[in-house]
Amino acid sequence: MAIKGIIFDMDGTLIDSKLDFDQMRRDMQLANDAPILETIEMFTGARRKQCDEVLRRHEQLGVEIASVFPGVPELLMHADSLGLKMAIVTRNLKEFALQMLKVLPVSFEPVIGREEGPIKPDPWALLHICEFWQIEPHEALMVGDYRFDQEAGKNAGCPTLWFSQKREVGSSDWHTMADYVLEDNFQGKSLLDRILSENTP
Ligand SMILES: [Mg+2]
Repeated sequence: MAIKGIIFDMDGTLIDSKLDFDQMRRDMQLANDAPILETIEMFTGARRKQCDEVLRRHEQLGVEIASVFPGVPELLMHADSLGLKMAIVTRNLKEFALQMLKVLPVSFEPVIGREEGPIKPDPWALLHICEFWQIEPHEALMVGDYRFDQEAGKNAGCPTLWFSQKREVGSSDWHTMADYVLEDNFQGKSLLDRILSENTP
């Protein structure tokens, strides 16, 4: 098998939108560790509308204060020079994602937002992208900073790469789920070369 494309998570992986999920939960009056999208999905009527508005307000702010993680542009340009396809699967709304992605030096096709289908860890978006690219799931590398990215990759049958963004691993086991781990983005080019050579048919 060979890696022909990379499917990236956006927020926390390529771009730091500095979304304050704890504040978001407080604004929505959710429990401290509640998964936001999954929880508000169960709400209806005015309660749902209120949460959607809070979410939208935070995401809009994220667009305004977003920054690119150091080392990411270099890694993306390297992947582009190797002829790899690149796509985005995000739990953000597509309209906000498209605005944030403008600051990156490569283009992504397709960009899948949460409104388009089942969200990660469901493998739907990853499988949809592989079909669009006309490649097999094992030929696409799933890259992300969170548990849902690794789970979505596994569920789709894609090899996975965890971007730690130098965060403490803590008690999470996300990194143990991933096939590859990147702790320093500036090591990304050499890691990508290694992944490609290990996956050469
Ligand atoms: Mg993320």
